[in-house]
Amino acid sequence: MKGMMMHQPLLVSEILEFGVGAYPRAEIVSVRTEGDIHRETYVEFRDRTVQLAHALKKHGVELGDRVATLAWNGYRHMELYYGISGIGGICHTINPRLSAEQFIYIVNHAEDKLLFLDTTFVPIIEAVKDHLPKDLVYVIMTDRAHMPETSFDALCYEEMLEGQPTEIEWPVFDENTACGLCYTSGTTGNPKGALYSHRSTYLHAMMISVMQTTTFQEGASVLPVVPLFHVNAWGLPYSSLISGLNMVMPGPAMDGPSLFKLMDEEKVFSAWGVPTIWQGLLAEIKKQGRKPENFGDVVVGGSAAPRSMIEAFEKLDVSVGHAWGMTEMSPVGTHGIMPKWMEEESFETRIDYKSLQGRRCLGVELKLVDEDGNRLPHDGKAVGELFVRGNTVVSGYFRNEEASEKALDADGWFGTGDVASIDKDGFLSIQDRAKDLIKSGGEWISSIDLENLAMAHPAIAQAAAIGVKHPRWDERPILVAVAAEGAEKPSIEEMRDHLSSEFAKWQLPDDIVWVDAIPLTATGKFSKLNLRKELADYVHPELRETA
Ligand code: ADP
Repeated sequence: MKGMMMHQPLLVSEILEFGVGAYPRAEIVSVRTEGDIHRETYVEFRDRTVQLAHALKKHGVELGDRVATLAWNGYRHMELYYGISGIGGICHTINPRLSAEQFIYIVNHAEDKLLFLDTTFVPIIEAVKDHLPKDLVYVIMTDRAHMPETSFDALCYEEMLEGQPTEIEWPVFDENTACGLCYTSGTTGNPKGALYSHRSTYLHAMMISVMQTTTFQEGASVLPVVPLFHVNAWGLPYSSLISGLNMVMPGPAMDGPSLFKLMDEEKVFSAWGVPTIWQGLLAEIKKQGRKPENFGDVVVGGSAAPRSMIEAFEKLDVSVGHAWGMTEMSPVGTHGIMPKWMEEESFETRIDYKSLQGRRCLGVELKLVDEDGNRLPHDGKAVGELFVRGNTVVSGYFRNEEASEKALDADGWFGTGDVASIDKDGFLSIQDRAKDLIKSGGEWISSIDLENLAMAHPAIAQAAAIGVKHPRWDERPILVAVAAEGAEKPSIEEMRDHLSSEFAKWQLPDDIVWVDAIPLTATGKFSKLNLRKELADYVHPELRETA
C-alpha cells in the first residue's frame, strides 16, 4: 500500500525560493575581479538570477542544454548555478586549472552552448578558442566598463541582465532531470563527467546541512574557499540557502593574508577548503598572533587533513570537521562531526578521531571489500577497497559507456579507488588511494600517514611520500619535502627518528628530496603523478652507493 502524500519534484529552484522567502536579509558578499567588494541580499540575488534565467532563455537555452562556467567564487557564479538549473539547463562548471588539452576535451565533449567566464580567464580562452565549437557563445562576467579586449566575440554579463524581468514562474519538471555537470580531474585518461540531478543535488544539500550542524546556523557567515568551479563547492551554494547563511566569496584571493583580512572584516564563522589553503591561513594566524575575529569552524577535505593542522585549529578554538568525498559523490560522503561521548575524552583522543575521515552521511552506505570482492568487517582493523552506494552517488558517467560499465560492481556499488578501514563506531580511516600505496617487501605503507606525521615536524612545510623502485623490496618510501621558512632542514636520520614514534622501522622513508614546491593537481592536492615524473631520474641511495 502506498502512502497518501503529495509528490513534489525536488528541484533546485525550490531551494532558491525557500532561501529567499525564509531569509530575505541574508547576504552574498563577494570579492570581485573588478577589485572591490560587492554585496547583495538573497532578495537581490534572486531578482538577478531570474533576470539571468530570462536572458538564457532568450539565447535559446532549453531543458538539458549545457551552459559552462569558468569562474571564481562570487555572486555571479551563484546566479549562474541557480539561473541555469532553474530553467532546466545544466550548469557545467569547469576547473580553470585543468590543462589546455583537458579543457578542450571537456567543452567539446559536453557540447556547451554558452560559456560564462570571469575576466581573469580570458587568456585561457584566447589560447584554446580555435579548438572549441565555432558556435559557442562567450559571456564575460563583468559590466561594460570592465569588458576586456578579446580576439573572440563576447557578450557582457551585466548587459545581458539589463531590462530583463525579475518575475518568473520556474518550470516544473522531473526531479531526475540533470542540473549540474562536473568532470573529474582525470589523472589518467580523459576526464569523466559526473552528471548531477536536481534530486541528488537537493538531497545532498539537505544531507550536509544535518551533518555539519556547527556551520549551518542561521545568520552565521560561511566562507567557501572550496571552489564553485569544482564539485559544487561541497554543496555550499545550496545548503547555505537552506540554512540562511551569509556567504562570503573570496574570488581569486585565496592566499593566507587575503583570507585572514576578509574573514576578519566579514566576521566569518565557518570556512571550508582543502588542507593546502589552510596552511596559508595558519601561517598568517601565526604571524599576526591571533585568529580572525569570529572564526570558530573549519571544514577540511579533498585530501587528508594533517593531524598537526587539526591540532593547530583546535588549539585556537576552531572546531575542525574533516570530510571525505569525491566528484562522483556530489561530493561529500563522510563527515567528521564528533559523537556526544567524545566530549568526555581527552584533547589528544579527540584530535586522533578528528584525523580520521568521520562517519557516513545520511543516505551514503559504505562497504569494504578484499581483493576477491568479499566484504570485510567494520572492526577498525580490516583494510580493503571502499565502495559506496546512495542517492548522491553517480550511476555512470556522462556520454561515456566504457567508463560507466566499469563504475559499479555487480551489486550496484561504486568503487572509490580508496583503501580504508572503518571502526566499530563508524569512523572511516582512509589509508590511501589504491594507486598511491607504497608496497615494500609485500607489505603496504600508507603514504597519507607518513606525510601527515612528517608535516608535524616543525621544520617541514609540506611533505609528500612516494614509493621508488628498489630491487629487493620492490618499492621503498621516500619523502619529498618543502622546508618551513627559515628552518634548518632536518637530516634523514632526524626525520626517521621523528617518524619512528608511529612507524615500524621497515616503514620509515629512506631519503628526503628537498624541493621548492610540491606540484599540485587542478584541485589543490599533491600531484603524485607529476611528482613521479619530476623524479623520473631519481635513484635510491643504496643503488647510488653500489653504482
Ligand atoms: P578531485 O576533487 O581532484 O576531482 P576526486 O573527486 O577524484 O578529485 O577526489 C576524491 C579523492 O580525494 C578521494 O577518492 C580520496 O582519495 C581523496 N580525498 C578526499 N577527501 C579526503 C580526505 N578527507 N582524506 C583523504 N583523502 C581524501
